[in-house]
Amino acid sequence: MSKKKILYEGKAKTILEGPTPDTVIQYFKDDATANNAEKHSIINGKGVLNNSISDFLMNRINEIGIPTHYIKKLNMREQLVRKVEIIPVEFVVRNIAAGSILKRLGLKEGRVFSRPLIEHYLKKDELGDPLINEDHIVNFEWATRDELDEMNEYGLRINDFLRGLFLGIGLKLIDFKIEFGRYYSDDGNSILLLADEISPDNCRLWDVSTNHKMDKDLFRQDIGGLKEAYQEVADRLGILPEKKKYSNAKTEIVK
Ligand code: UDP
Repeated sequence: MSKKKILYEGKAKTILEGPTPDTVIQYFKDDATANNAEKHSIINGKGVLNNSISDFLMNRINEIGIPTHYIKKLNMREQLVRKVEIIPVEFVVRNIAAGSILKRLGLKEGRVFSRPLIEHYLKKDELGDPLINEDHIVNFEWATRDELDEMNEYGLRINDFLRGLFLGIGLKLIDFKIEFGRYYSDDGNSILLLADEISPDNCRLWDVSTNHKMDKDLFRQDIGGLKEAYQEVADRLGILPEKKKYSNAKTEIVK
């Protein structure tokens, strides 16, 4: 890790001071946690894979005109991002029933929703990230009504885009969690940016033909093979470092 000041120690990432006051560095660790960190393991190489996968997805999302905090990948484990004031709400978009919604609403895993479902959770570990509604968000001033509308709309656009992107590589996007932050310009005005990361740590991805899980549920449910699955996701996205090196080497020989 670079010898920078630690600003925040998260479960899967450390946030370090950036080169300029308006940037920070996200350092991807190998820690895997579940059940609000009750369950914890180190999975060698997970951070490197998530850094690459998130780099790829954030760049694609930027390209479709959704503003993100993402600037660039710095090395195997670090990426440079804009410093934002994180909105304390986790936005979960679901296409197919899985995870916490099953028990809560008595649903069967795999039920396809007729349209994407947005849920909001308060980002507060001490309370176990409780489910909240839009009235809570506006009433307690975690976000304004306009900000909330904008974030919901971004969530649905990101869902449409990622669903297609993953389907193209044989994966079903079951659900995902995103976070947003306020980025302040010099005049004191703020804009909303997609923040945090997008990786198989915060998406559910199932193989289209086998329905095999290729995400953090492999750890949550003690199925195993998490690193191999994340590697497979990276490979299908065309960003596996070893493959890249190999194809670069081949190009050199041909030249
Ligand atoms: N998720 C996340 N961080 C959290 C909670 C959920 O990234 O703190 C992601 C999770 O990986 C899944 C989606 O949000 O893709 C929905 O998660 P769910 O509410 O089903 O909770 P979980 O089963 O993770 O407890």
